[in-house]
Amino acid sequence: MKIRTRFAPSPTGYMHLGNLRTALYTYLWARKNGGTFILRIEDTDQEREVAGAVDAIYQSLKIAGLSHDEGPDVGGEYGPYVQSERKDMYLPYAKQLIEKGKAYYCFCSRERLDRCRAEAEAKGETFKYDKHCLGLSKEEIQKKLDAGEPYVIRQNVPTEGKAGFDDVIYGHVEVDCSTLDDNVLIKADGLPTYNFANVIDDHTMGITHVMRGNEYLSSAPKYNLMYEAFGWEPPVYIHLTPVMTRDVQKDENGQPVTGEDGQPVEIVRKLSKRKGDPTFEDLLSRGYLVEAVINYMVLLGWSPKGEEEFFTLDELEKLFDLEGLSKSPSIFDMQKLNWFNAEYIRRLTPEKYREYAGPWLEKVLPEGFDLGRLCELLQGRTEFFGQLPEMVAFLAKMPDFPNDFYVNKKQKSTVESARDALNSVLPVLEGIGDWSEENLHDTVLDFIAGRGMKNGQMLWPLRIAVSGQMNTPGGAFEIMYLLGKDETLSRLKTSMERLG
Ligand code: GLU
Repeated sequence: MKIRTRFAPSPTGYMHLGNLRTALYTYLWARKNGGTFILRIEDTDQEREVAGAVDAIYQSLKIAGLSHDEGPDVGGEYGPYVQSERKDMYLPYAKQLIEKGKAYYCFCSRERLDRCRAEAEAKGETFKYDKHCLGLSKEEIQKKLDAGEPYVIRQNVPTEGKAGFDDVIYGHVEVDCSTLDDNVLIKADGLPTYNFANVIDDHTMGITHVMRGNEYLSSAPKYNLMYEAFGWEPPVYIHLTPVMTRDVQKDENGQPVTGEDGQPVEIVRKLSKRKGDPTFEDLLSRGYLVEAVINYMVLLGWSPKGEEEFFTLDELEKLFDLEGLSKSPSIFDMQKLNWFNAEYIRRLTPEKYREYAGPWLEKVLPEGFDLGRLCELLQGRTEFFGQLPEMVAFLAKMPDFPNDFYVNKKQKSTVESARDALNSVLPVLEGIGDWSEENLHDTVLDFIAGRGMKNGQMLWPLRIAVSGQMNTPGGAFEIMYLLGKDETLSRLKTSMERLG
């Protein structure tokens, strides 16, 4: 049997990281088995549709390298691949279910449904449709249809017994039918609901493996009832555990809630753009490497057999398996992602690093700046490219800084020793003609040795005086070189004036 998997996003906005991970696993499972990876756009909920979201899906999949074999833009034998374009396909199937007694027309008005819902809520019960229209006779139904009364088609879920299905991660899942609602299959606008379309589409598109978020776990027994009614083989179900993140609990005003110990209360919640978590697009625009994000995301919910953590997409296409999928929710951790990304950045060739970093650096640094040298200094300490403008801002403009920065026990530097050191080294620097890093290094170190000082006593204040920062990419020589002679001396003099 040829494996066919599908990624079935709804065009409601961005590529959430959870969605990206679903797409990734779905893609990998198809590739691993020499199967077919299908993109299906689920746009039957037109109220939730966001303009441009479909393009964003294509774009994200393309950037991620998850190329689909069939889909709206590439075609295929099972099209159309956009649900709204398939809209005429669903009603005949719904009618088949009606004939089998597994679905029925419902003409209930919104007012009636609202009333029933309010009554249920008043009793503290969850609303379930009361099968009111199941009692209509054939003639009554026909009369209403002929009169053009609006209707929906509902699934007729048995009131007794159990419904269940098998899931690769959750095992056999079974629920009492009495807990299930008669969901709408075809809406008043003639479009199918997700609950119906997913069954019809997965079957008619020959999908063998359905991977999706576990929010569909509770509905899947109902889907299986439909597969049974049609006499169709259900696909293999793989409901993925969610991607969570750690956060602090907030009250209605968005203020952190503190516990008895006065500390913020930590919670684990689902990833959410609204709560400030990044989407795939956000990460890319902050200068994360696609390969690193993919690598990190694949491991959020899947473990490879060995110890290795770094994988290319090609390698994953061979390695990925269903056994490694996690049975418990995974935690998205920005720091871990940063670590991964930094590791990927370190492994870039200097040329590639420069290519990525260049545009970020050019935003803040003047023309003519030695970006090549700066990049060498930055590569080992970059977590994501978007942090570079801030990291190098001090090179473009001297920041304000307190004189306390000169104090450093380990380097035996105090405000007084810094003042002396800078006073003594200024004429030496002024006298330097060849402003190369090497010459700066040799000249200043000779001078230090001649005065019998500790290196740190000179180099610590010097670096602070020209950078205004405790931490810098590179030391005093590198920074003085990058700034150039005029800028270095001008900064040094200003800082010395501030030291008094
Ligand atoms: N359209 C659904 C979503 O975006 C997909 C669910 C599925 O894969 O069946 O959540």
